[in-house]
Amino acid sequence: MRLKIVTPERVVLEESDIEAVYAHTIDGDVGILPKHVPLVTPLDISVLRYVKAGQKEPVAVMGGVLRTNGKVISVLTNAAELSGEIDVARAQQAKERAEAELRQETAQTDFTRAKLALMRSLVRLKLSSPASK
Ligand code: ATP
Repeated sequence: MRLKIVTPERVVLEESDIEAVYAHTIDGDVGILPKHVPLVTPLDISVLRYVKAGQKEPVAVMGGVLRTNGKVISVLTNAAELSGEIDVARAQQAKERAEAELRQETAQTDFTRAKLALMRSLVRLKLSSPASK
């Protein structure tokens, strides 16, 4: 299969000979093997994993949409990073900022925005931690 992950800014990944893709969708986990039934599904802010040459590789995806026809898997998302691309200090700062905002509990706090920012930072930190490799 071919896997392509695209953001408004760049092509994050374009690979062929993909053996499987494992993703977290808003409806639960999905594993895509060759000849998977056609599918379009919204993704969670999560770590997607793909298998190539027997090796499982992680990619952080900040939500978006996954589409497959069983041969090509396309992910269109606002942001995605490979593990080596993550700036850990930036993700840590984003986490602390979002947590501080959530603690404020004032009328001005935008909880949904802060929660999503927190989720993005946690996924980035998860991907950059040695345990996720
Ligand atoms: P921040 O508050 O640090 O900007 P964010 O969650 O608001 O984080 P996004 O809007 O998801 O950031 O992403 C904006 C751009 O910055 C995207 O291109 C994304 O890939 C990149 N980006 C965000 N955080 C990081 C990070 N910690 N390491 C590498 N790239 C990042």
